[in-house]
Amino acid sequence: MKIKFLAGLVALLLWLPLVAQENYKDKAEADSVKTYRSAGFYTVKSFPQQFKGKKPKNVILLIGDGMGTSHVFAGITANGGQLFLDNFKHVGFSKTQSSNQYITDSAAGGTALSSGVKTYNGAIGVDPDQKPVKTILEEAEEKGLATGLVSTSAITHATPASFISHQDSRGSYEAIAADFLKTDIDVFIGGGYKHFAERKDGRNLTSELEAKGYQVLRKMDDIAAVKSGKLAGLTAPEHNGRVSERGDMLPVATQTAINILSNNKKGFFLMVEGSQIDWGAHQNNTIYVVEDMLDFDRTIGKALEFAARDKQTLVIVTADHETGGLALTGGNIKTGMVKGAYTSTDHTAVMVPVFAFGPGAENFTGIMENTDIPNRIRDLFLKK
Ligand code: MG
Ligand code: ZN
Repeated sequence: MKIKFLAGLVALLLWLPLVAQENYKDKAEADSVKTYRSAGFYTVKSFPQQFKGKKPKNVILLIGDGMGTSHVFAGITANGGQLFLDNFKHVGFSKTQSSNQYITDSAAGGTALSSGVKTYNGAIGVDPDQKPVKTILEEAEEKGLATGLVSTSAITHATPASFISHQDSRGSYEAIAADFLKTDIDVFIGGGYKHFAERKDGRNLTSELEAKGYQVLRKMDDIAAVKSGKLAGLTAPEHNGRVSERGDMLPVATQTAINILSNNKKGFFLMVEGSQIDWGAHQNNTIYVVEDMLDFDRTIGKALEFAARDKQTLVIVTADHETGGLALTGGNIKTGMVKGAYTSTDHTAVMVPVFAFGPGAENFTGIMENTDIPNRIRDLFLKK
């Protein structure tokens, strides 16, 4: 018994340093991605704030998935103290709780922002009783406006899906893809090709889209050249890669969508998602967070450039929830270095920022529920 115990103790003592070493290696790796170091800043423009009328003709809603105020300030620091976001004079906070959880997921968060209805985590465009809820994209379409969705994730992923699909569960990617065919959406650009083309039910939705008059394209160069007509841009089998891989896919896709949708004389609704701010924060990876935050901000710059020229476009920027419980524990605005510390590898409950620019922007200040955002968009934009 004693020998057995001693043998066990020796084995444990021999094993411990290995474990410790392994942990140390992981910790060093984890620490190395906590600090972002800038390789250079981009120039931020400031746009004139003169608009026509009090109600917008067009609405561009940009959702930074997981983007809390720390993520925004990490971006401000990393770009030398300035972002395109600085153009927004009307700022508020959104409470993100879902119908059944203090901490929401992106499906309930997306559905709240698309429909104005709080629902359960995992729900795509359905209420707590799993009944479909009408989204502002669908209402815009009914009014004869042009509509679009752009995302760096699969276009069937929770956030964009919440604007166009009605499914009990966010994981039903093939059913979500099929829901796109039930609509008349004009432009969608994102990943998710395989959910349209390589399906268990044998349907090929890309052929069905073509039969409905869509240009179905997979390369960003081809997508960027489209100026009119219906467009399905499926740029990755599943999700697009990180910025280092996908380049300026998101700003270019957003510009392309605006070019096409603005042909509609009645106006348009466009939702754009910076999906991967969330993914960087889930990984507690500040480099990933900041790269995606800056890519999202440059995309916001494209929306602002159009809105400032057009003078009838309301641009709203917000998030579905915060991710990572991110705090900034070090940084240097002159060099663009920023250090993050995390309290979670998941979402948190805190309020997220809301930024508004354009006619009606003054309605999006103060503390609001996430559901107030689409409801106010409805009042200003769809109930004219
Ligand atoms: Mg998302
Ligand atoms: Zn997430």
